[in-house]
Amino acid sequence: MSRPAEEIKPLAKKKKKAPFNYSPYVRGGKLPHIWCPGCGHGIVLKCLLRAIHTTGLLRDDIAMVSGIGCSSRTPGYVDFNTLHTLHGRALAYATGLKLAKPRLNVIVTTGDGDALAIGGNHFIHACRRNMDMTILVYNNAVYGMTSGQASPTTPPGKISTTSRNGSIEPPFDTCSLARAAGATFVARGTAYHFQELEKVIYEAIMHKGTSVVDIIDACPTYYGRFNKYKSPTEMMEKIEKEGTVSVKQVDKLSPEELEGKLLRGILHKSDRPEYCAEYQKLMTKVQAK
Ligand code: SF4
Repeated sequence: MSRPAEEIKPLAKKKKKAPFNYSPYVRGGKLPHIWCPGCGHGIVLKCLLRAIHTTGLLRDDIAMVSGIGCSSRTPGYVDFNTLHTLHGRALAYATGLKLAKPRLNVIVTTGDGDALAIGGNHFIHACRRNMDMTILVYNNAVYGMTSGQASPTTPPGKISTTSRNGSIEPPFDTCSLARAAGATFVARGTAYHFQELEKVIYEAIMHKGTSVVDIIDACPTYYGRFNKYKSPTEMMEKIEKEGTVSVKQVDKLSPEELEGKLLRGILHKSDRPEYCAEYQKLMTKVQAK
């Protein structure tokens, strides 16, 4: 029997969530940005701003530092304390900045070439010191800004400006390198899995110590074109979706299914003394003498 019309309550209207307002974080005068159509860097920037918003940190609490490269343009577009430095030297500047102003929450945006080749030495020592900072490695396996040379993360066989017949170098695994060098928070995300990436970046910022997030990203203009991906979408699906597996799924997959896949999620978290806190303790002791 159907119920009388007056008993049937209208379905409560689902409240629409207001879209995220990026404007307060962006320097409008610096737009439009220089990134190519289809580049993953814009997605990473959105995840980063949303993650920062969730931390509740004020814009003036943050210092964003970069080196040189397409990803290193990020600080130019955001309204924090920002520093655009030399190629491979972002971590050296970030280290000095954090020591001078320990109250600042330091975030470094760098690329695979900037962080792991010319800046490789700074990278391992930053991880070793465990200074409280977040290092985001936008990893698109190529030097995008200088027209597509092979980087330390270019996979074997892949074409670049400097490996026209396919790279024969074994690539670095950013996360293994960071962990071996002593980083106390190591994670991986992708521009494709943007919701996961936002959460991982949030956790990285909240961690006390050196946090490294390897972000698998796409450079359709060079890497994509050289390696015959038909579109930025196909590239993201093949590299970021099919080439990675969430750490939460590892137990459900066979060794064959895991073969050649990079793990996504938080891969390592530990607790050991943070550099600035140790330095402050030492200074207090020395000055008391
Ligand atoms: S060159 Fe590559 S990494 Fe640089 S903006 Fe264009 S697509 Fe992005």
